[in-house]
Amino acid sequence: MTRRISVLGSTGSIGENTLDLVRRSEVGDWKVVALTAHSSAQKLAEQALEFKVEYVALADPKGAEALKGLLSGSSVKIGIGPEALIEAAAQNTDFTMSAITGAAGLEPTLAAIDQGIHVGLANKECLVCAGDLFMSRIKEKNATLLPVDSEHNAIFQVLESDKPEGVRRLILTASGGPFRETSLGDLKNVTRADALAHPVWSMGAKISIDSATLMNKGLELIEASYLFDRPSSEIDVIIHPQSIIHSMVEYIDGSVLAQLGSPDMRTPIAYAMGWPDRMQAPVERLDFAKLSQLTFFEPDTVRFPALRLAREALETGGRAPTILNAANEIAVAAFLDGKIKFLDIANCVSNVLDVCSAQSNFTKSCLSVPELLLIDEEARVCARSVIKTLST
Ligand code: NAD
Ligand code: MG
Repeated sequence: MTRRISVLGSTGSIGENTLDLVRRSEVGDWKVVALTAHSSAQKLAEQALEFKVEYVALADPKGAEALKGLLSGSSVKIGIGPEALIEAAAQNTDFTMSAITGAAGLEPTLAAIDQGIHVGLANKECLVCAGDLFMSRIKEKNATLLPVDSEHNAIFQVLESDKPEGVRRLILTASGGPFRETSLGDLKNVTRADALAHPVWSMGAKISIDSATLMNKGLELIEASYLFDRPSSEIDVIIHPQSIIHSMVEYIDGSVLAQLGSPDMRTPIAYAMGWPDRMQAPVERLDFAKLSQLTFFEPDTVRFPALRLAREALETGGRAPTILNAANEIAVAAFLDGKIKFLDIANCVSNVLDVCSAQSNFTKSCLSVPELLLIDEEARVCARSVIKTLST
């Protein structure tokens, strides 16, 4: 039976990998319904025509004319602006891939959840921004959330979720990023290009920088806590440079179950798309005779304070994860724009959290979207002013 699929963030790394799997599947397995992008009108139009989609949404109005021109004469409906992303996500589907970067993906992802369908979640920031609200919406709408982030997908595959009392801890693996062996002194002067050159994974710019600061693992810690309903004390992080073991679950009897595979996002994407069945993914197979070694190290939170900041935000709860995420998005964008140095990304996040922790409801959980978006926006404003002081 043909399954209807939409891809939010289709022009990105996860989005393109998702469409690659659709392209390689049997004709008639999938019907692509809606695609969205931020500003790449050209790529979005090419995808729309190749997959004969029903609806495309472009967030940035600057690309509107170009997109309309490229799609003139076709039957593709076009939406422009952030509202159109929500409309795209509300188009009727069986599976929607949430692969927009950042909290900008929150409302579209919630619109997909509201359909009560299978939602593949790559966009960890929207879960970090709105964890409690997000998870309660899933339950309320009877939607099925399928983690796409490779670590969470690994845990999802090996977790006996119907017997939570048997689980002792979750173990998230981390590649360690491009600066795993860089000294604190040298980290001061690493460049944008150094930070974007991830040794194992090929990904979008924002998550590549997050991997270099280890904020990515911090966001994933918070993501795991919400997804699998475990406190910070039951989630450990271990550096595993080869990225072959994608994460593990330890049980109370001492058993540790792990999911392994080549570092290729098409495996977790295929798992999410196919669930509860398995589907083909054209990835390199593991050859155990050639895997010379798998190594593991404790993460260093002195060189990589972002991981500690994220753990503290998780333990504080309330608004802290929302603020941490928003400040980090602004700081990463400022680093990519050459406005601040690498170590200032975590400095900025730390400063913003310090400023915001003085607010009376800092530790109060928030269950309304408008309120969350306001907290997110205030943290962004605060981060921009912190950045002015760091960059001068
Ligand atoms: P990317 O930068 O390659 O693509 C991002 C997509 O989102 C693009 O289609 C872009 O047009 C769209 N987008 C970006 N900002 C937007 C905005 N403000 N409004 C609307 N659309 C916007 O990023 P990616 O590497 O594909 O990552 C996407 C998400 O998946 C991120 O949350 C990331 O953390 C997560 N993720 C990615 C990987 C990976 O291997 N790439 C792995 C795990 C999780
Ligand atoms: Mg990951």
